[in-house]
Amino acid sequence: MRGAIRIDENRCKGCELCAVVCPKQVIEIADYFTARGYRPALYNDPQQRCTGCLLCATICPDAAITVYREARAERAVSV
Ligand code: SF4
Ligand code: SF4
Repeated sequence: MRGAIRIDENRCKGCELCAVVCPKQVIEIADYFTARGYRPALYNDPQQRCTGCLLCATICPDAAITVYREARAERAVSV
């Protein structure tokens, strides 16, 4: 399954839990600071490796991550 995530920088506190838990290693920590003084998590997935597994969103203590999953195309059924 293919997935993607969106990280809300305004909620992120840069705890790095999502980056550690992601099995595809597509989350990194920014080298800049937000207005609140945190280095936010960044989604960097040029090869579309995210599977939409939800681990990052589940572990995030600040509910900063939204996960999207690609809808499966319906298969034609022959009779
Ligand atoms: S949904 Fe899974 S694969 Fe995708 S970024 Fe989050 S932890 Fe990584
Ligand atoms: S787990 Fe949440 S708060 Fe922590 S770095 Fe990731 S997005 Fe930010």
